[in-house]
Amino acid sequence: AKEHGRARTEVFTAALRDAILIRHRLQNDLTRAIEEREVFLLYQPIVSLADGRLTGFEALVRWRHPELGLIGPDRFIPIAEETGQILPLGRFVLEEAVRNLTRWRADTGLPLSVNVNLSARQMWDAGYVDDMLAWLRGTGCAGLKIEVTESMTMTDPDRALAILGRFHDLGIPLCMDDFGTGYSSLSYLGRFPFDVLKIDKSFVRDLAPESDRARLVRGIVNLAHDLGLDVVGEGVETDAEQALLNTLGCDYAQGYRFARPLSLEDANGWVERARP
Ligand code: C2E
Ligand code: CA
Ligand code: CA
Ligand code: CA
Repeated sequence: AKEHGRARTEVFTAALRDAILIRHRLQNDLTRAIEEREVFLLYQPIVSLADGRLTGFEALVRWRHPELGLIGPDRFIPIAEETGQILPLGRFVLEEAVRNLTRWRADTGLPLSVNVNLSARQMWDAGYVDDMLAWLRGTGCAGLKIEVTESMTMTDPDRALAILGRFHDLGIPLCMDDFGTGYSSLSYLGRFPFDVLKIDKSFVRDLAPESDRARLVRGIVNLAHDLGLDVVGEGVETDAEQALLNTLGCDYAQGYRFARPLSLEDANGWVERARP
């Protein structure tokens, strides 16, 4: 048993060492990745629940590492947040997303939107936000929406309110992302200038009619509507989830049921087909 324990410890230690090595590797490679455009965006459609019409996309970042292959944001965004590399990365994401958004709107005349995720590190950096807003003012940002999570605002709600207010004042709608996974959700909804509430996929997964969860979702939707917010259901994977969310009054949806996050080329195709 003792031998067994030691073997296990060695396996564990090796796994931990690998995890630390890979973390260092990603951290080291990320700066070059941003400069060399190994990072790129996918666009996941957000559709109107009633009729499936395309309303816009959420921009989701990916990293094609020359040796390690495709890496998802859950693996490198936290590192980039910690090191500050999220600042240049976020800048790339914003500019790329706005560039395509502007083209899609001009090409189709449709009021399409693109949602961009803002991270805490970006939000709290006053000079960075100044630069972002100046760039957006100069280039135009019709259709851009910013997604933030409530956990980001919790450390200093008053300051967060002031910063997010600056985006809002520029006419950029704010989306509360991952709603239901945080703590103080309800009080924040009324206090912050949110325009859109995104119900986290954990609420949507296997949603069943007449269940407590369905009643909860109905309550959230009604509350959001009373406060003047639109509601997006995230992680919609099945017909049944789509139908039920629609019954519960949810306005928009995003999920594999409609489309995975798409390459720019495929997103262009969606926009082309949405053309009036
Ligand atoms: P998120 O903002 O909640 O984005 C939605 C995530 O749900 C995406 O994962 C998307 O691919 C996934 N998803 C969409 N539909 C479904 C579905 O039907 N079922 C399931 N199981 N999942 C679905 P992804 O692309 O891996 O992104 C993960 C997280 O990384 C995002 O969560 C967001 O927090 C962060 N992220 C992605 N891109 C950016 C970015 O440009 N900047 C920042 N700061 N964070 C980003
Ligand atoms: Ca998001
Ligand atoms: Ca989300
Ligand atoms: Ca998330």
